[in-house]
Amino acid sequence: MTYKSPQNKQLLSIIAPAYNEEANLDLFYQRITQTLKDIDLDIEIIYVNDGSQDSTSDVMHKQSKQDERISVIDLARNFGKEIALTAGLDFAAGDAVVLIDVDLQDPPELIHDFIKYWQEGYDIVSAKRIKRHGETLFKKVSSFLFYRFLSRLSDIHIPEDTGDFRLMSRQAVDALIKLREKHRYMKGLYAWIGFSHKYIDFERAPRSEGSTKWSFWKLLNLALDGLTSFSVVPLKLASIVGVFSAIISLAFGCFIIFKKIFFGDAVAGYPSLVVIITFLGSIQLLALGIIGEYLGRVYNETKNRPLYLIKNIHNSVYSRSDKHS
Ligand code: UDP
Ligand code: MG
Repeated sequence: MTYKSPQNKQLLSIIAPAYNEEANLDLFYQRITQTLKDIDLDIEIIYVNDGSQDSTSDVMHKQSKQDERISVIDLARNFGKEIALTAGLDFAAGDAVVLIDVDLQDPPELIHDFIKYWQEGYDIVSAKRIKRHGETLFKKVSSFLFYRFLSRLSDIHIPEDTGDFRLMSRQAVDALIKLREKHRYMKGLYAWIGFSHKYIDFERAPRSEGSTKWSFWKLLNLALDGLTSFSVVPLKLASIVGVFSAIISLAFGCFIIFKKIFFGDAVAGYPSLVVIITFLGSIQLLALGIIGEYLGRVYNETKNRPLYLIKNIHNSVYSRSDKHS
């Protein structure tokens, strides 16, 4: 690490990923600097421009010219929020690192509490949403159900209703950036690394400007990544359903033979035959689909590509020299 504070203060890194957020960045900068004023730590702000098509990058660079604490990482394309966060984490030099959205849904003021608990010795302090404002009913219900479904199925406990808004100690960040899987479900990874964890409740504000950057398909994919990265229960389920349908088929087969022997058979049975064939066919397709989801991910992992590519980088005065990819 190149960073050395003149006054021997500790360094706090703020990582803010952004995808097409030109309308929010100036307001975000105002709010965050206002908050950081009262914090007695050195500060670096790392913007990760996740392949935005609007002027997000220009706004970031403009701000970084005025404030030497700002680094800007321009990714080569849109890699998705989970990877953008990882890029920021790789470059952060801080003794503590905060992840925050730039749309002001995560209130920067909460960082004061994060720091308080970090200084008390917690490695991860995360914000737990007790209310979500300005989000669609569909998103609220689907994320409510998904978080609960996942925590049932997964081997490790992934806390419900916590997003990425959190502080992590250097030790926790170092552990997290060792995990280089391509299909990253960050909420699961935070839980997987362990360490001491503190939750603070907050009400999630509506977006400041623009609309959510998660399309239905992106969210569905994230949910599948979460499920497949942290649980093999669906695979087991496929075999359990297979065993059950085999038992039922066997019983049904015995019944037919029994009926034939004792009561004869008048060529009936076409409807039941069709039902059985389609039922078994659909179960097989479902099982194949589940296996395919896992197999596709295994395939992607084996390609061993870097997690992200950087187009351009502007370093703050604090940035570190040993960089990962
Ligand atoms: N984001 C990103 N890359 C993406 C999608 C989103 O960097 O592909 C950023 C986005 O700019 C924002 C944060 O991640 O700062 C959260 O995104 P959003 O507000 O769209 O998610 P939501 O709050 O609706 O869950
Ligand atoms: Mg948002």
